[in-house]
Amino acid sequence: MTAEKSKAGAMQVDIAIIGGGINGCGIARDAALRGLSVYLCEQNDLASGTSSWSTKLIHGGLRYLEHYEFRLVREALMERERLWRIAPHIIWPLRFVLPAHRGLRPAWLLRLGLFLYDHLGGRKLLPATRTLDLFTDETGQPLKRDARIGFEYSDCWVDDARLVVLNAMDARNHGATIETRNKLIGAERSNGVWRLTIEDQLTQAKKIVEAKALVNAAGPWVADILHGKVQSNTQARIRLVQGSHIVVRRLYNHDRAYIFQNADGRIIFAIPYQKNFTLIGTMDRDYQGNPAEVRATEEEISYLIAAASEYFQKPIQRDDVVWSYSGVRPLYDDGASKAQEATRDYVLKLDAPDHNAPLLSVFGGKITTYRRLAEAVLDRFKPYFPNLSAQQTVTADHTLPGGDFPVTGFAALVDDMARHYPAMNHDFLERLCRLYGTRARMILGDATSMADLGEHFGGTLTSREIDYLMQEEWAETAEDILWRRTKLGLVLTKEEQAHLAAVIAKKKQ
Ligand SMILES: Cc1cc2nc3c(=O)[nH]c(=O)nc-3n(C[C@H](O)[C@H](O)[C@H](O)COP(=O)(O)OP(=O)(O)OC[C@H]3O[C@@H](n4cnc5c(N)ncnc54)[C@H](O)[C@@H]3O)c2cc1C
Repeated sequence: MTAEKSKAGAMQVDIAIIGGGINGCGIARDAALRGLSVYLCEQNDLASGTSSWSTKLIHGGLRYLEHYEFRLVREALMERERLWRIAPHIIWPLRFVLPAHRGLRPAWLLRLGLFLYDHLGGRKLLPATRTLDLFTDETGQPLKRDARIGFEYSDCWVDDARLVVLNAMDARNHGATIETRNKLIGAERSNGVWRLTIEDQLTQAKKIVEAKALVNAAGPWVADILHGKVQSNTQARIRLVQGSHIVVRRLYNHDRAYIFQNADGRIIFAIPYQKNFTLIGTMDRDYQGNPAEVRATEEEISYLIAAASEYFQKPIQRDDVVWSYSGVRPLYDDGASKAQEATRDYVLKLDAPDHNAPLLSVFGGKITTYRRLAEAVLDRFKPYFPNLSAQQTVTADHTLPGGDFPVTGFAALVDDMARHYPAMNHDFLERLCRLYGTRARMILGDATSMADLGEHFGGTLTSREIDYLMQEEWAETAEDILWRRTKLGLVLTKEEQAHLAAVIAKKKQ
């Protein structure tokens, strides 16, 4: 349903959502698909908070089994194939190699954990765990020869920032209003509804939005909204945990990822990334500063280089690091002593004095479980929206934009595109299909050659793609395009990036 207007001109909706990360956009999609009118504001760009700084895994979280988080692991495992089915362009299976090193967790314990992992969560398409002889298997070749036995198991990869945008697009397709660069600066209950003051971050213009219910999905800023902007009495503590990654030139040639156990109890992943790179992370530690200013420090970068070099034959050098990034997990504070042990499960806190104008705040969660979190949020709102009880969630059956092709049909999609556009570079078509799925055709349209796609900005980025991103996906700056809608920031030179920024600034005038 679309929003209405009050006599004074204020937008009126059923649900207003603060935060355009995966949780906010997932809730917006679920609510819009169930027929509610929705408004979502994001102070910056979609996915500019934690949701684009993750390890990009749709995973059960093998290590959470050690903390007995069976409910979370089971729910997350079940989500893997559901999410893969609704977005097979941006989500795909990934096999992980776990070497069994002497002196760390014993091989039998790893095998037991992986047996549970294989059987807890309704796995149908993903292959089961197998045992490897790392002295003969190709996955052992790049590693030092100090573990002979390894295990290979399944999880999935996701383009996290695109998952956010696709949820926002689907919400918009079902009537939701999504506004980026718009910040909630104040909120009060008045006559049984929320009156929100929203400030446009580009023009500083202010407006009022009225909502029957308010969702605080501000991620690391959840407490700032709760106690600053809304002044709620809800008692909940948030624990900010920083996690950093480095991106290095590709360390090996096969398509499997590694999961290494570190002697200090941390887990390090090394994952094939964007064809020519390897992603290594994370190092987790408590964080006290402003979430917007979090950066990977030299100490963290050195830690990740040293940790991965423990396992690979060829040590990683500081010069191999082409990019690093850092994000802050907005975890619910369950009093765990170590950052890596704090629960990754989500917690929802409802504040509804006199049973009206509810405020629901989201703590913690994972990208993997965002859809289930959205269902749980809508369930909590059932008493406030009588028509909602009859509406079942359909978010697991309904594909995300561009994902309307068979779950294992990605190669066929690329082949089909190559037949339609025989003069276009194959890698380019594959890149577009990975980002936009079947919607890649909207970008290519009637073009018959690369020259028909307008100006070329480097790394096969063309005017057509930029126009598509600005018209359809809320992209407003070069950074939005280079680091969130695509990862071409890894490919374009500094000069090409500066030129792109100048062209976009001109388009915006
Ligand atoms: C290092 C790291 C690795 C991770 N790896 C994984 C993984 O592999 N798999 C997985 O499933 N999960 C992973 N996670 C967890 C996952 O990334 C987070 O749980 C998830 O992204 C949180 O999303 P969110 O929507 O709650 O928060 P965010 O993405 O931070 O979104 C909140 C948004 O609210 C906006 N906002 C704040 N205040 C206002 C305001 N006043 N007005 C308007 N907007 C506002 C912010 O700008 C922000 O964009 C990882 C997390 C980290 C940090």
